[in-house]
Amino acid sequence: MFKIKKIDHIAVCVRDIDESLKIYKTVFGLEPQDREYVPAQKTEAALLPIGEIGSETSIELITPKGNDGLEKFLDKRGPGLHHIAIEVEGIEEALALLKTLGVPLIDETPRFGARGHKVAFIHPKATGGVLFELVEPAEHHT
Ligand code: ZN
Repeated sequence: MFKIKKIDHIAVCVRDIDESLKIYKTVFGLEPQDREYVPAQKTEAALLPIGEIGSETSIELITPKGNDGLEKFLDKRGPGLHHIAIEVEGIEEALALLKTLGVPLIDETPRFGARGHKVAFIHPKATGGVLFELVEPAEHHT
């Protein structure tokens, strides 16, 4: 089995990131650390870190910028919880293992997500209706 390190983020799909940022600031005092357009996902994402630096997790606010799946999600269900992302060691090996186990994958090879991290989604039918994302952080250069 591959190594899971922590929950990297919990993603909430929203219609308007600016409006949502105001809510998270008012209700929780959370401030965005990163905000970017993610070309490989056709989304805009803002990350609100929670916890000690180095072991923090984040609330990720995402909104579609051409991403049909997220548009459909918003049309069908409205804004709300979208996926849970877990940080793993060796994302390629993790995906290869899941494939041999017959776990349905949305991404058989990683794509680039927010912050340049490698990400891949597991199909929600594999987990009883919850969309999981695997994340392997980009190398940090200081
Ligand atoms: Zn995510």
